Amino acid sequence: MKKKIAIIGSGFSSLSAACYLAQKGHEVEVYEKNKTLGGRARQLKKEGFTFDMGPSWYWMPDVFESFYQDFGKSTADFYALERLDPGYQVYFGKNDTINIGDDLEKICAVFEAEEKGSAAQLKKFMAIAKENYDIAINDLVRRPGVSPLELVTPVTIRKIRYFFSTIQRDVYKAFKSPKLRQILQFPVLFLGAKPSKTPAFYNFMNHADFGLGTWHPEGGMYSIVEAMTQLAKTLGVTLHTESPVTKILVDQKGTAQGIEIHGKQISADIVLSGADYHHTETLLEEPFRVYSEAYWDKKVFAPSSLLFYIGLDKKVENICHHTLFFDVDFEEHARVIYDQPEWPKDPLFYANFPSKSDASMAPEGKEACFLLIPIAPGIEDGPALRERYLNIVLERMEVLTGQSIKEHVLFSESFCVKEFVEDYNSYKGNAYGLANTLLQTAFLRPKLKSKKVNGLYFTGQLTVPGPGVPPALISGKLVAEMIAPTPAPSY
Ligand SMILES: Cc1cc2nc3c(=O)[nH]c(=O)nc-3n(C[C@H](O)[C@H](O)[C@H](O)COP(=O)(O)OP(=O)(O)OC[C@H]3O[C@@H](n4cnc5c(N)ncnc54)[C@H](O)[C@@H]3O)c2cc1C
Repeated sequence: MKKKIAIIGSGFSSLSAACYLAQKGHEVEVYEKNKTLGGRARQLKKEGFTFDMGPSWYWMPDVFESFYQDFGKSTADFYALERLDPGYQVYFGKNDTINIGDDLEKICAVFEAEEKGSAAQLKKFMAIAKENYDIAINDLVRRPGVSPLELVTPVTIRKIRYFFSTIQRDVYKAFKSPKLRQILQFPVLFLGAKPSKTPAFYNFMNHADFGLGTWHPEGGMYSIVEAMTQLAKTLGVTLHTESPVTKILVDQKGTAQGIEIHGKQISADIVLSGADYHHTETLLEEPFRVYSEAYWDKKVFAPSSLLFYIGLDKKVENICHHTLFFDVDFEEHARVIYDQPEWPKDPLFYANFPSKSDASMAPEGKEACFLLIPIAPGIEDGPALRERYLNIVLERMEVLTGQSIKEHVLFSESFCVKEFVEDYNSYKGNAYGLANTLLQTAFLRPKLKSKKVNGLYFTGQLTVPGPGVPPALISGKLVAEMIAPTPAPSY
C-alpha cells in the first residue's frame, strides 16, 4: 500500500532512503532545515572559488556505482570521475614527504624505500584487507544491525581474531617505520575512533585506500548531492528546504502521525529521520525517547573539526589535491581528541586543494584551499581560538612546503563546533557521527527503528553502518528496506 513518508533532513542517508522509498511507489517528502540540500556536504562559492564544506575524499567508488545501478543509472550519467595520482601526499617534515600513488605496485615501491622488507608485508596485509572489504561491503554493512547473529557467519567465524585485535596492534606487528604505521592507520580516522580502539577487521579501509583509490568527481563532492537530488526528483520525491522540523507528532498509542514545521502540522504514515539521532529524539516527548542523555554522554563520538575555506591569489607549490600534515605527534593529538578533550598544542591537519586537479574550483592562477583540524566534540570554540589556529597551520604549511602563503590569502572563512551545532543540530558539534569502535559496531549502534514509537525510523551516521558518505548511502537503503521490504521473488 502506498504510504506517505516524511523524511527529516537531506543528508546523503536521507536522499538515499528517499530514492529507494519513492522507487517502491511511496509518496516521499524531504524536509531540510537549511537553505540547501545534501546535509554536511554543503558547497561554498565565493569570488570565483568553490569549496566543499564537508566531505572531500571520494572513496569506495563501487558503493556509489552500486547505488546508481539500483536505479538503472551509472556514475557517468551524473558526473565525470577521475582517479587521482598521487591519491594523496603526507608531510612528515620539511623535505620529508611520502606520496601514495594510484596502484599497489607504486605504493609498495615507496614502502620498500622507507623500510626494507615492508613491500612484501604490505602485500600480505592488503590481501587480508581486500578479503575483509569484500565481506564487509558486500555483506556485513548491508545488514540492519537488529541482532548480534547478523555478524555470525561461517566467514566471520574464521575472521573472529580481527574483531578482537585492533588496527593499531596489527599495523605495529607488521611494520616498524613510524611513518608507514601512521599512513596505514590514517584510513581508520574516517571511522571516527582511535586506531587503538578500532577492530582490526576495519583494515578493509586500507583496501578502500590503497586498493580502490582516491577519486575526484568533477565539480567536487557537491556533484554527488546534485546527482542524488536530480535522481530523487525524477523518482517523484518532493524536496523542501528551510523547513526545520520542530516536533514529531505521536498519538496516545505511540504511533507517529507526522511532523510539525513552523507550527504547521504535516501528517504522515511514516516519519524517517536522517538528522542527528540525538537531536531527533529531542523532537519527541520524553517518554517516547529510547536513548537517555546519559547514554549519549557515554558514547564515543567522531571528532568535531575546525575548518577553513581559503581563497589564495597564487598557485601553491609542493602540495597535492589531498595533503596530510603528520609532522607532529599523532598519539598526542589523538589523546586530546578522545581521552582528555582540549585544543591540541601541535595539531595534525589536512589540507585540500581541489583546484590542483579541477580547474573549475578556483579562478585561473589561484588556488582553493580547505583546511581541517580534528578536535574533540563539545570543546570551547571562539573567534580568537580560530584565528590562532589559522596562523599556526598556515605558518607550518609555509615552513614545510617552503613558500609564502599567509600574504596570499584573499579571504578565509571558518566553521567549527558552533556551526556544527547551529547548522546541523549536531550532538556536541560532532563532524561525522558516532565512531565505529568494537562496542559501537553493527547491532550495538542506535537502531534504525524506534522501539517506542511505531512508524518512526532513523538513518545516517549515528546509526548503522556508521560515518562517511558511502555508509550513508547504504544506511538509506537499509532503512528503506526495513520500512518497505522488497517482496521475495515467486518462482
Ligand atoms: C568536515 C567533514 C569532512 C568529512 N570528510 C569526509 C570524507 O572526506 N569522505 C566521506 O566519505 N565522509 C566524510 N565526512 C562524513 C560524511 O560527510 C557524513 O558521514 C555524511 O555526509 C553524513 O550524512 P548523513 O545523511 O548521516 O547526515 P547529515 O549530512 O548530517 O544530514 C543531516 C541533515 O539533517 C538536517 N537537520 C538537522 N535537524 C533538522 C531538523 N530539525 N529539521 C530538518 N532538517 C534537519 C541537517 O541540516 C542536515 O542537512 C565528513 C564530514 C565532515 C563534517
